[in-house]
Order: sequence, then structure tokens, then C-alpha cells
Amino acid sequence: MPQVLKVAVAAPIRHTFDYLAAQDTPSGLLNPGIRLSVPFGRGTRIAYLLEISDVPDVDRSRLKCVHEILDERPLLSSADLELLRWASHYYHHPIGEVISTAFPVLLRQGKPAVIKGETTLRLTEQGKWIELDLLWRAPRQAALLTLLRAHPKGLGSSRLSELDWDWRAGARRLAEKGCLEIFDAPPPPDSWASGGHTVAPFSLNADQRAAVETVSAAFGRFTTFLLEGVTGSGKTEVYMQLIRKILERGEQVMVLLPEIALTPQIEGRFRTRFPEPIAVFHSGLSEAERLNGWLRIRQGEASILLGTRSAVFIPLQKPGLIILDEEHDASFKQQEGFRFSARDIAIVRGRQLGIPVLLGSATPSLESLSNAQKDRYRHLHLPERAGTASHPRLQLLDIRNQKLSEGLSPPLLAAMKQTLERKEQVLLFLNRRGFAPTLICHACGWVAQCQRCDANLVIHSADHRLRCHHCGHQQNIPDSCSGCQALALRPLGLGTERVEQALESHFPDARLARVDRDSIKHKGDLERVLTEIQSGGIDILLGTQLLAKGHHFPEVTLVGILDVDSGLFSTDFRSIERMAQIIVQVAGRAGREEKSGAVILQTRHPQHPLLCALIREGYDAFAVNALAERRAARLPPFSHQVLLRAHAADEAAPRRFLTEVCLLARQSAMAPIDILGPVPAPMTRRAGRYRFQLLFQCPRREPLHALLGTIVPQLHRLPDSRRVRWSLDVDPVDLY
Ligand code: ADP
Ligand code: ZN
Ligand code: ZN
Repeated sequence: MPQVLKVAVAAPIRHTFDYLAAQDTPSGLLNPGIRLSVPFGRGTRIAYLLEISDVPDVDRSRLKCVHEILDERPLLSSADLELLRWASHYYHHPIGEVISTAFPVLLRQGKPAVIKGETTLRLTEQGKWIELDLLWRAPRQAALLTLLRAHPKGLGSSRLSELDWDWRAGARRLAEKGCLEIFDAPPPPDSWASGGHTVAPFSLNADQRAAVETVSAAFGRFTTFLLEGVTGSGKTEVYMQLIRKILERGEQVMVLLPEIALTPQIEGRFRTRFPEPIAVFHSGLSEAERLNGWLRIRQGEASILLGTRSAVFIPLQKPGLIILDEEHDASFKQQEGFRFSARDIAIVRGRQLGIPVLLGSATPSLESLSNAQKDRYRHLHLPERAGTASHPRLQLLDIRNQKLSEGLSPPLLAAMKQTLERKEQVLLFLNRRGFAPTLICHACGWVAQCQRCDANLVIHSADHRLRCHHCGHQQNIPDSCSGCQALALRPLGLGTERVEQALESHFPDARLARVDRDSIKHKGDLERVLTEIQSGGIDILLGTQLLAKGHHFPEVTLVGILDVDSGLFSTDFRSIERMAQIIVQVAGRAGREEKSGAVILQTRHPQHPLLCALIREGYDAFAVNALAERRAARLPPFSHQVLLRAHAADEAAPRRFLTEVCLLARQSAMAPIDILGPVPAPMTRRAGRYRFQLLFQCPRREPLHALLGTIVPQLHRLPDSRRVRWSLDVDPVDLY
């Protein structure tokens, strides 16, 4: 009798499905972890084989036959499948979608699991000799020809995509003219193996050596380490020396970073250190590149995996160590769809594989510090900066009663002037992009708001537009007030564009760079600015939190944080933790080499106790105080939370649905669980939809998950479930 295949279908469905294998299928082909294509509804779907069984869940005669077996060998091992099942269970998320997350898009679509060649351009004889003048009307084609003449062996799409313009149209035109050929070539080995020359490791200082020795003594078994090292203390050097040791054992390392923007820098450092092949995996790559990176790690061809959060699921051939840098960063939590925490998954994975997990940060999250206090994590410290660099000096600047010029106080301006006279660099931090966050009428007080969100429109001066940062709506800036028709509209508040203009008039000779999501749009933009800063081509660097993450600015000796207060008073209990992390991270960018740095924080609350603890005693003292507040308020990590969000185009349905859930939960709960709500989300209307939420909170995790396990499968049967879209967020990192 044909065997029953239990599969997960890549769809938002919580249960698995049974299919039959075709009569003539060799049984050796049927292994859990392979992909199949199956008939589903009126169409076909990709499915993942979980188990083989003799007993179907439904009557055998109703079972359909699998269309096709897509993989000869399983892509996921039983350990990989076990991890994904755990994640599906823990996050109460449909198993098919969880498994899909582990795959690059091409594999989700059922494409073959083989390393893919990339589109490559190469000049023909004609292309080598044609006069460039003939292309005077097509500057991009001319540029492409010039570029290809410098690369006679041809250039692949991964390199070409670094251009900040679309090369494909020009390439097609040139191919039509017979100037170049376009073909699929295997990716050149040097795109993933190092160029050859390697730089010798540093000799470690005592703290670094202790960290490397402690972690390497735990190779081959599970332990979580929290490496707390001030910025510039040489954490990356510790990672690299541990990686060296893992590679010597013939094992692989997974290195997870919070941001795509950080990967080129780390990748560069790794490539000058390791001749071993490195696979990179993040959303900035092409689908083909991601497939290739995934397969190389899976097949053991690459020894080092460098990726962002979704890389945490990539199957490894011989795992030895997981490193997660900047562990405090909220980007490790996926904020839509399958809302997993890559940090927490990394730890579960380490335990399951029996390998150590190393979390690193200059400003560990309060959760991780609390785990270290409870001896769940081993705490390692790098208190000093590596080499000769010294700590920056932090200074609170009371700006009450100061006359501010576009947010800049006279003492800050004076300090900037002195720094620039010494030919040193200044970094200014303001976490708000655009010109001003509000357009207000000076006559009647009317404020320009988004039609679809409970939010003000932000003024953008570059193209003279108003934009909503939540739904993407944009419009021209009106001339007169919509409330009273007066010609009295004024910008209110500060954004980076506005400060940039002010700086241009205060320091007309200074070379200025603004770094935010409006100025950094293309792949390579950030790297270009960073290189310019490092080569001394910039005097004042102004930016948002893009600047706070992991980059080195050795010539910066003055850091100004323009608006500390915005993080102190917020509805989100985590905002003060984030503010403290940003302050310490931004401060850490200053004076990294011989020159010591100063950090000026402008505030109207110079007595704020947590802020004072941070400035006077440092991040650890801040964390002790902040954790005490959390404990008193019974907030995480002293309780566990799950947020159920629901939204709909009308206001009543989400509230009704959550009330129904609330009732159901109260009937089902065995242990006391706080159920808070339903309440409107902090921004209730967003992109035209009304958003409400219900918060479940409990000091212990188990009863919470038991309750969810009972109620989640019933939610789709509640009367209002079809009128809303809902999602579950386990361990939410923001309560939006
Ligand atoms: P972190 O990752 O903690 O911010 P890095 O690893 O980037 O710190 O190191 C900061 C700087 O110190 C880098 O320029 C690095 O090359 C240098 N460095 C690291 N370890 C040492 C060492 N043992 N001796 C001298 N310089 C070091
Ligand atoms: Zn909007
Ligand atoms: Zn008005």
C-alpha cells in the first residue's frame, strides 16, 4: 500500500496535510525534509515532507497523490525540521510558513537546489574597438562599455548591481548592436572566496584572551555567552579568533548581524583574515545570490555564514559556533508575518545542536543582562578599549532657557567650532529624518495630518513634499492653511534636513554629510559616505540611527546628541532602554584612536535619574536601575508578554473580535494570566485601518503558552474573525 506523506503546505494553515506517494516512487526518495509539489484546492502548491506514516488522518480514499518530488536528497535535516517545528509551536505560527522562512525564495518557488549561474556581460570584438564617441547620446551605454573594457573576462550581475543605475537596459541595447554578449556563467570563485592575502590577527589583550579561552573551552557543548564589551573594545577581534579555532576543527560558524548595512564592513574584515569561503545571506542580495549562499552553507562548501535575522534558519553541514553581534538590536525581531526573534532562535538552535552561542554588545538588552544575572548566560567583559584608544567623556548640557538655533545650543556650536578649527570631525545625531515633523498654521493652529493615519505629515524640503512615514502617502506642501486659508504655515520641530540647512549657514566652509534613509537609498551609498568620512573628506557628519550602528569614525572627536528627551517620555516602556543604547553607541563612535572624544547631550531634563545614572556611572549602572523599575512594574523580563493585534477598515470589528477573544481566554485560562485590553493601538489608525490590541501577560511562560495553545486554533471560529485581520506577537519588542 502506498505510504502516507504528512506534509506542510506553504500557506497560512495551521495543520498538516496527508498525501499519497505515486505507486512507482522508489521508497529511498521519500525522506523528511524534501520538497514536493502537491495538488491543492484548484491549483498546485509547494509542500515540505515532515513525516511518513502508514495511517492517514482522514479516510485513505480521499487522499490525493503527490504531483512531483522536487528533491532527491532532503534539504533540511531532522534537527532542522525539529527546530522549525519548535518555532512554529512557540510562536503559534503555521508550520508551512515557518518552513518557508527557512528557504530562499527560489527554493520556496520549487526551483532546483543547485548553485545558479549569474547573468554575465562580456564585450565582443566589436565592443572592444567601437568608438565611444558613437555613443554620445547614450552615456550609460558608453559607461558600461568603458567598465567592461576594464574587465576583459566579463562582469557578473552581482558586481554590476553595485552600480547605482539600471545597467540592464543599456546592456540589452549594446547586445542588440553586437557590442556585448549576455550569458549565464557560474559565479566566479573570487566572489565568495577571499582574494588570497590575509592580515595577521592582533595579539589579544588580557580581557580578550580570557574571552577567547572561555568560549573555546566550551566548544562542542551548549552554553550561551554574553560578551559585553564597550565600543572599540575589540569584540570583532574576539569573534575572528574564535572563528579561526572553529575552522581548525573543521566546523562552520554562523555570524548574525542586525543590519544589511553592517555586512560589507564585517565581510571586508573577515575576507582579509580568512582565506576560507564566506557565504553572505541578507535581503540586499539578488535571489540567485541568496540561493547560492544558502546552498554553499548547506553543502559545507562555505565555512562562514554572515547573515541577517532570517539566516538563523539556514541548515548547516557541520555547525560549531553561533555568534550574534549587537544582540540588543530590535532588528533581530521580525516585525511582520512570522514574528520570530533571531536571538532567541539562535539560542534554541545552539542548545539543540550542542554548540556554544556567543551574544555580543556594548549595550546588552535588559533581557540578556537579566539572564546573565540568573546565570543562564555566562557574562564576559571587555571593559577597556583595545589598543591605545580611551573612553569618551559624556556631558549633559541643560538647554532650558538657551537660545537654540534650529536645535543647536550656543555651547554646542562653540564646541563644534573649536573641533573644526583643530581639523577634527564632528558627528551630530538626530533620530528624525525630513525637514520638520509638523506643518502648523501660525494663525489657527491647524496641523497637516495624514488622511489615512493618526499621524502628522512630515515636511521634506528636498522635493518640497509632505510625507507620511507610516503609510507612504505624499503630497505637495500647500501654500495656505486648509483650516483658515491664512498664508501662515510654518514648520514645527526638527528633522535632519533642517539641521543640515542651519549647519550650512553656521559653518559655510565645512564639508557636510547627511546620513539618513532619504540620503542613503541605493546599495553602496552608505559605503561611499563611510569611505569619504574615513579618508577625511567630511568635517561634519549629521545623521539618524543609521550612524549609531557599528561603524568606525576614528577622526570624530566631538559627538552632539541634539534631542535626548524624545526617548525619555514615551508610551513604550522600552524606549528609555533604546535611548540609552543609542547614546552609548553613538558616543562610542568618537575618538576611537589616539584622540579622545567628547560627547554633548542636549536635554531639558538634566536631573532625570536614569539619564544621570547612565552619564555618571555608565550603562551597567543604568541597566541595574532600569531593571529595578521593570521588576517593580512587573514588565519583561520579569513577565512574559504576547500581543494579539487586530485591524480592520471599520473601527468596531477589531474591538469586538478582541472582546470575543478575551472572553474565550478567560474561560480557558487555568492559571492567573493578566489579559489587558482590548485597547486601541498607540497609533490607532494606520493606512486607513483601525488597529486594536489585547495583551496577555504572565510571570511564567508555560501557562501563557498553554492558554494560547488552547485558544489560537479556535480564533478563526469566533464570530468577528472574518471581519478583521489578526496576528499574534510572542515576546513583542514594540507594543505598536
Ligand atoms: P568592537 O567590535 O568591540 O567595536 P573592534 O573589534 O572593531 O571593536 O576593535 C576596535 C579597534 O581596535 C579596531 O581598529 C581593531 O583593529 C583594534 N583592535 C582590536 N583588538 C586589538 C588588539 N588586541 N590590539 C590592538 N588593536 C586591537
Ligand atoms: Zn499615513
Ligand atoms: Zn489656519
